[in-house]
Amino acid sequence: MIGNLNRKLRNRLSDGDWLPICTTVGGQNAIAISFDDGPSPCTTPTILHLLARFDATAAFFLCGERAERYPSLVEDIAAQGHAIYSHGYWHQRMDEMSPDAFARDLARTEAVLARFRPTPSPYILRLPYGSGHDSARVHAQLRSWRDDVQIAHWSHSFEDWTLADNCDSHATLQIRCDDAIVTALADRGFGGSILLLHEDAIGSASALSGAIAPLLLAALLRGIARYGIKTTTISASTDCSTLSRFVRFKAVR
Ligand SMILES: [Zn+2]
Repeated sequence: MIGNLNRKLRNRLSDGDWLPICTTVGGQNAIAISFDDGPSPCTTPTILHLLARFDATAAFFLCGERAERYPSLVEDIAAQGHAIYSHGYWHQRMDEMSPDAFARDLARTEAVLARFRPTPSPYILRLPYGSGHDSARVHAQLRSWRDDVQIAHWSHSFEDWTLADNCDSHATLQIRCDDAIVTALADRGFGGSILLLHEDAIGSASALSGAIAPLLLAALLRGIARYGIKTTTISASTDCSTLSRFVRFKAVR
């Protein structure tokens, strides 16, 4: 059935067929923090500690395989009231998967996540690598899998997976993370952003990869406290745009 749909649709969907894509939370006094690729014993406990200390909230886009490997960390995320959404099971590019593999990956991920929280509706997910967020084929396949899917994208990326590249010390990494936050806060478009961060980013080769998220988050939470910016979570009420050929988003890694 999906094959027929794709042949008909190619890369041309009418405006009403594109799924909503959330990129901002609206307003200038709030941001949404999101973490991809977790959970990880290197990062999740410290992230949760920092969020609690600053009375902040975040959305965790978990990989099914890692969630299955570290269930107690997922329990901790849920127990602290943070949102848990899907980031695929194996973290594969969804614009390169067959329709069957695509549906299996999403269903397998949700089967894991549903052990820890009710299945959300609308069904918010983040595509690994943002892959296919502007592809009619991926939108059609997602809609075929569940018709209430909303793609959670982002409006600010720290490109945090690069921060530890060629980094020889924790102190240097700290400086890089602090600088990244100073730069972000100076951006006039920062308020209302959905921020993209990673837990121990999949594919990172740096030995310091697991140290990035805690350092970046600590600097971020200190920074937004100075500006009186609060955290909010990504939800069905988050600002969503419907992608059409007339709408384009920032470049995606
Ligand atoms: Zn990812």
